[in-house]
Amino acid sequence: MLYGGDYNPEQWPEETWAEDAALMKEAGVNMITLGVFSWARLQPGPDTWDFAWLDRLLDLLHGHGIAVDLATATASPPAWLVRAHPEVLPVRSDGVRLEFGSRQHYCPSSPVYREAAVTLARRIAERYRDHPALALWHIHNEYGDHVTECFCAESAADFRRWLRARYTDLDALNFAWGTAFWSQRYGSWDEIEPPRDAPGPVNPTQTLDWRRFCSDALLACYQAEKDVLDEVSPGVPVTTNFMSMFKALDYWEWASREDFVSDDAYPDPADPEAHITAAMNYDLMRSLKGGRPWLLMEQAPSAVSWRPVNVPKRPGLHRLWSLQTVARGADGVMYFQWRASRAGAEKFHSALLPHGGTRSRGWAETVRFGAELAKLGPVAGSRTEAEVAIVLSWDSWWALEQEDHPSTRLDLRAIIASWYRELWRRNIAVDFVPPEADFTRYRLVLAPNLYMLRSETAERLTRFVAGGGHLACGFFSGIVDEHDHIHLGGYPAPLRDALGVVVDEFWPVPDDRTVPVESAVAGAAEGTVAGAATLWSEWLDVTTAEPVASYAGGPLGGRPAITRNVHGDGLGWYFGCHLPSALGAVLDAAGVRPAHETPAGVEATRRGEFLFLLNHTDAVSRVSGLSGIDLLSGATVRDELELGPLGAAVLTPNPAPER
Ligand SMILES: [Zn+2]
Repeated sequence: MLYGGDYNPEQWPEETWAEDAALMKEAGVNMITLGVFSWARLQPGPDTWDFAWLDRLLDLLHGHGIAVDLATATASPPAWLVRAHPEVLPVRSDGVRLEFGSRQHYCPSSPVYREAAVTLARRIAERYRDHPALALWHIHNEYGDHVTECFCAESAADFRRWLRARYTDLDALNFAWGTAFWSQRYGSWDEIEPPRDAPGPVNPTQTLDWRRFCSDALLACYQAEKDVLDEVSPGVPVTTNFMSMFKALDYWEWASREDFVSDDAYPDPADPEAHITAAMNYDLMRSLKGGRPWLLMEQAPSAVSWRPVNVPKRPGLHRLWSLQTVARGADGVMYFQWRASRAGAEKFHSALLPHGGTRSRGWAETVRFGAELAKLGPVAGSRTEAEVAIVLSWDSWWALEQEDHPSTRLDLRAIIASWYRELWRRNIAVDFVPPEADFTRYRLVLAPNLYMLRSETAERLTRFVAGGGHLACGFFSGIVDEHDHIHLGGYPAPLRDALGVVVDEFWPVPDDRTVPVESAVAGAAEGTVAGAATLWSEWLDVTTAEPVASYAGGPLGGRPAITRNVHGDGLGWYFGCHLPSALGAVLDAAGVRPAHETPAGVEATRRGEFLFLLNHTDAVSRVSGLSGIDLLSGATVRDELELGPLGAAVLTPNPAPER
């Protein structure tokens, strides 16, 4: 288990370094990320390099048995580069060029930036490839944070190159973008620009292609550095730190270019359900490379500094939330940052070594958790098996959240989180999968929303159901193809066989209103699918499906709201309204099993043979039906486990029967 964090020694006099290294040892730190924001220090001028200080640091850390995750330092170009080449600075959609003085101030398509970044990465790689402390390469930092897109002339030219590669001929682009509408036809590639601020709604397919391009433009920056590291320093794993379920970058594609996935996670201690959203993000990180362990690259030991109100983690919460990352597939817990900064924008961001030094509560927790994490070594490498998958498509996400839709209140992350919550509170393991995935590995596939659905994906989903799979599809799914053109013939046309429904018209629910939904079947399921739907409803007709729930009033009163369709050997459920609590009926029908049954607020999840139990409540909780040894306390558990407030246990089966 890796334990450590970002270390920014250039912010401190060199006398501090030896104390830092000694304290790292005391805390059980075994991995340090170096150089994330060191560009200006490493390259003070265009032809000036200074590596001597970094040499001494790597030697110092190695001398203390601490491995180094070495960054390529390319996230924050130095002032000299920006002043010599002002065109490196990014431009907003309204034409304003952003200034130097923060970070991430670069145009992803700038050849000057890309060349300077690759040169820096190469110099660092060549100098340290054989250093014994080097364990990992850390490219850049949080791609897409602050700046996800640039509207400058250079980016416009890069966009046109990307479009030519995608469409080859202009007629294909004109068709895909639907330029017959509003007289938008292009007669030459040179007439095409990024979707800058315009008098009214901008062409939705142009905007969609722009999002695809922006993810790819940043990915090209990453790939250029990755190629250098693979060439100069083969065999050393390479990652870049993700930002959980982040809209701007298609992490399926990004993760395929990484050697392992790493994530920066900052759940808000002020949010009473933060641990549920966090679990969802960690499951995504675990899923991005097909279930392989990932690394928590950054978290805050306590408060962050960038929310309007930055609430610290109450005693025990840092430990509990850290263990949650391991429970959901992390093979290491790392932080931003080692020593709290004295100056700069993040000086109030908590750190492993707070401003108050070793007398602080934070330091005591740093040391205590380091010792505890070391006990979880046997967990490293183990994997989670899931019977349920949630389909996540960045293409569909970008297309869904465009303007001029029946409702602009549809937030994919929130919709997925509302479905995920139903799985989380039942301790049912779930993988995230892209639309291209092999669905047949799962008993149940959930598509909370797939607004954009390629016909090929719809065909595979339909075959999955016919072959005995269970599919539950949320409202406003299967609406458009990959060009954002409507699938004609009644929504959701490509899924009609699997779902057995036709949507005649969308009836989005205004803010602060609800639509009553009641069970449409007598008997056991009654009551479980009733409630008040928010956000969305539909005028829905069934063809082969049977209504499971119907609207209990209003213009849609009596019409089906949730349906179930037998197709071949499987079941296709359709949610025409937003009522995630009704998912219980879907889970019951699929027969998916929990990791363990627990009281409310206690999370149970499995990694290999290990069962993690995490009490997210402030009360004592008892979980029964368990036996084994708790790796954290060393105690033997027989039948019942008592968890204190924010308590945790990691059970491994008792290796030897008692005599
Ligand atoms: Zn640009």
